[in-house]
Amino acid sequence: KEDGRGCWRFFEPEMDEQAQQRRRLEMDLRRALAEAPEEFVLHYQPAVEIAGGRVTGFEALLRWQHPERGLVAPQEFIGLAEEIGAIEALGELVLRRACAEAARWPDQRLRLAVNLSALQFRREHLTALIHAVLEESGLDPRRLELEITEGVLLNQTAQTMATLRGLRDAGVRIAMDDFGTGYSSLSYLRSFPFDRVKIDRAFVRDLASRPCDATIVRAVTTICAGLGMATTAEGVETEEQLRLLAALDCNEAQGFLFGRPVPAAQIPQTLARLAALAG
Ligand code: C2E
Ligand code: MG
Ligand code: MG
Ligand code: MG
Repeated sequence: KEDGRGCWRFFEPEMDEQAQQRRRLEMDLRRALAEAPEEFVLHYQPAVEIAGGRVTGFEALLRWQHPERGLVAPQEFIGLAEEIGAIEALGELVLRRACAEAARWPDQRLRLAVNLSALQFRREHLTALIHAVLEESGLDPRRLELEITEGVLLNQTAQTMATLRGLRDAGVRIAMDDFGTGYSSLSYLRSFPFDRVKIDRAFVRDLASRPCDATIVRAVTTICAGLGMATTAEGVETEEQLRLLAALDCNEAQGFLFGRPVPAAQIPQTLARLAALAG
């Protein structure tokens, strides 16, 4: 406590620097959203059926092509967008862009997965927005899968559940993302009939060396199969992980083994490469 003052003085410039950087990023984010939405780009990562290797769809992952910073990862600005109330505009841009692009993909059976922030559920307008975006893009609602995290269900309001149910009635699929890393995950599985559960990368990473992770993945795929939910393993990087996931009856895999997220223009190439691999 005695040298508290000294410590504060020592850290002050650094904290100031951090706060300033955040303010700069915040102003930049507002500028880009208002004046240069083309700086936000979507990259797409394939999901593959483990049995047979067929590509079933792509997940849209947001990046910010910043004029000075280069390509900024979502983790660096989505949290900020949520804090400053910009996530709704950003999320709307993502939905519009993703659906319009997916309507032009070479294969019109491919699924389009889009990530939603929990905050996008705060307003009733989400259902209307999704209907409007589907209408203007002409995308078949059954091709759209919305990925939500436990955060959406954390304060499970009647409105949230009604929104999810309404979307599902319209044919849109709902996936639970990053499964297993939050709180009381199991209870969420009975709160809503998800179409898919995405098993977090944390359980896939050390699958080969940690038998306990294999046990957990097996439990999840068994529960999901019993509930009629498909499973996708996230962050699959090696053939060995893929073999183990197949043995654990996981349905689909996504990860660098099949491809990193790529711009929309590279989707045909990705499909050709993976088709050749699947033989
Ligand atoms: P997520 O939805 O769980 O997406 C998976 C993340 O894992 C992506 O990171 C992806 O590039 C990365 N990944 C995929 N395969 C591998 C692999 O084999 N190894 C490793 N190490 N990583 C892999 P990314 O693109 O940086 O996105 C991070 C998170 O940001 C996403 O996690 C999602 O929660 C969020 N996000 C991305 N786009 C959007 C968006 O449009 N809206 C919202 N609300 N969130 C988004
Ligand atoms: Mg996701
Ligand atoms: Mg995930
Ligand atoms: Mg994740």
